[in-house]
Amino acid sequence: MASYASQKYEGILTCDDDEENILRTPTSFLDRKDWGIARLTIEKLRTVRNNVLKGGAGLAAPQIGILLPIFIYTPNRTTEGLIDVINPSFEPLEKQTVDGYEACFSEPFRCTRLTRWKAIKCRYQDLTGQWQDVILKDFAAKVFQHEMDHFQGKLTVDHPSAKTETFAEEQAFKDYMNKVLQDDSKTYEAS
Ligand SMILES: [Zn+2]
Repeated sequence: MASYASQKYEGILTCDDDEENILRTPTSFLDRKDWGIARLTIEKLRTVRNNVLKGGAGLAAPQIGILLPIFIYTPNRTTEGLIDVINPSFEPLEKQTVDGYEACFSEPFRCTRLTRWKAIKCRYQDLTGQWQDVILKDFAAKVFQHEMDHFQGKLTVDHPSAKTETFAEEQAFKDYMNKVLQDDSKTYEAS
């Protein structure tokens, strides 16, 4: 039987081995004068995402041990285009919420169902330092909210609405994820 450790990816902190509690520590705003570190962090996130994880909707700096408000993400399930996000914030666009499934590279063999805002108004800086204002809905909104939680030291299991399934064995986790991701894609309109 596979242990939790078998889902461990090189360079990724998980809630099972986060001895310094980095995943539970909030980040603070990154000043423009420190932009050099933003560039290096984005490069490292992209390398880990593409070469180690070989996929995934998003990855936040605290997950690779860097306490900065920086993440990369894909706004839908199919695109390979990664968007760089620095100093993000958001507010809900409407009161509507949606329940969906979320897995996280930092929460091995776990899948959590939780409630998110359906549509959000986001603001962040890109790698040039330019502020971006975007409206995200459904799947993209979920990913953005998930990644932002990493900057508040929060994992999916910490949400009041969280219902988490934990698996001791890799195949059972994969089978469950295949099933819920089919359900989940029906929940969200194509973005
Ligand atoms: Zn995550």
